[in-house]
Amino acid sequence: MAHRPGSPRRDIEFSDSIQLNTVFTRPGEATEMPRFALPEDQSLPETAYQIVHDEAMLDGNARLNLATFVSTWMDDEAKKLYAETVDKNMIDKDEYPMTAAIEDRCWRMIADLWNAPVVDDAIGTSTVGSSEACMLGGLALKRSWQSRRKAQGLSTEKPNLVLSTAVQVCWEKFCNYFEVEPRYVPVNADHLVLDGHDLENYVDENTIGVVAILGQTFTGMYEPVAAIAAKLDDIEASTGLDIKIHVDGASGAMVAPFCQPDLEWDFRVERVVSINTSGHKFGLVYPGVGWVVWRDRAALPESLIFHVSYLGGDMPTFALNFSRPGAQVLLQYYMFLRLGREGYRQVQQGSLDVAQYLSGEIGQMKPFELISKGDTIPVFAWRLREGYTDKWNLYDLSDRLRMRGWLVPAYPLADDLADLTVQRIVVRSGLSRDLATVLLADIKSEVDFLDRLESPLPRESATSPFHH
Ligand SMILES: *Cc1c(COP(=O)(O)O)cnc(C)c1O
Repeated sequence: MAHRPGSPRRDIEFSDSIQLNTVFTRPGEATEMPRFALPEDQSLPETAYQIVHDEAMLDGNARLNLATFVSTWMDDEAKKLYAETVDKNMIDKDEYPMTAAIEDRCWRMIADLWNAPVVDDAIGTSTVGSSEACMLGGLALKRSWQSRRKAQGLSTEKPNLVLSTAVQVCWEKFCNYFEVEPRYVPVNADHLVLDGHDLENYVDENTIGVVAILGQTFTGMYEPVAAIAAKLDDIEASTGLDIKIHVDGASGAMVAPFCQPDLEWDFRVERVVSINTSGHKFGLVYPGVGWVVWRDRAALPESLIFHVSYLGGDMPTFALNFSRPGAQVLLQYYMFLRLGREGYRQVQQGSLDVAQYLSGEIGQMKPFELISKGDTIPVFAWRLREGYTDKWNLYDLSDRLRMRGWLVPAYPLADDLADLTVQRIVVRSGLSRDLATVLLADIKSEVDFLDRLESPLPRESATSPFHH
């Protein structure tokens, strides 16, 4: 028996071999294959296919996965395009010049969407997702700070980055991998987001920048970029420190331009030098594609740019990966052409409407209190009302809903609020009002079930895989 510590599905003792004879009854067919070692011999494509297909079938149903921000639905033309272009490597700019040109068009459309003052002065790139895009944004801040400090003959030993404790894990990685001290501003009951409060106590001459999140993963709330910038203006006036902002718009940067067009969070705010988003979240493309755009060339130090040959000419690249799929970039372009501004507005507004319908109903149910409503990005969270019951908690509700196929995670909030457990729903294109009605009915009947329990449910430990 092979119990692999640390591997997913620790609850199962997988045998060392895969038994095939009950699936296939063909003469000459292999009947056994090693599960954890590379097989010695070949197998028929159908056999290998069926094994992988059957194991993957046991994953949750992606459409019912209300934990993820990442697209789980695209139309048939997109799927066709995907199948036609899976063989393209994004880095082969010379061999696939049209894919390269389309990547260029996409980030320009995005720069324009984010109100870059002069799109021709902006610079951007596709990435594998927001994580890579954030690393690049962070690196540009760090390198710019280093150059400024070096030019002044000052130390570059102790860079720090100011962010809220509610940042996505990719920023913790950035600080760890690229040796920047993270200065976390705690989120607490009075300041649920980074809002500029107390900022003067976190920034100093070694601050490479401030990260503002447009759409916290925990709650969906927006950090008020303009207010953070105004505070940094005050700090500059009193100390001379000119500190720039990177906006992590992994989800919100593809919602706000369409549904909250008057909110100033983007390049309209002068301190914002770079912005990232996940094409595979509200960009509505399958995983994985992300984007990062800098306000102008000055914000992306030349020393971070590599040059590859492109049709005999020169193409700047500054991604962390070399090879990666090109198909997602083509799918992004497809979505831009397919939907346009009005189409994106309708899709995102549709998700916002469903989110607010759900949060409105859930907020009215006795056991619950809303933390957010789903009126920023279509994401909202709720908590169990204090003192409502000792018999069950949100982890139990999450388990009950899972029995019906719905994946609705419960998890603790960040840092100072870590005592507080919340449950969250991400509404994406594909969660229709109809499906939402069924979900609500299921939540109501599971709450009834839990309320009728005579004694608390036995539980091992209240852990849930936290999906940022
Ligand atoms: C999802 C998310 C990320 C990471 O994005 P990926 O595209 O999954 O790499 C970073 N920041 C925020 C705010 C997010 O929501």
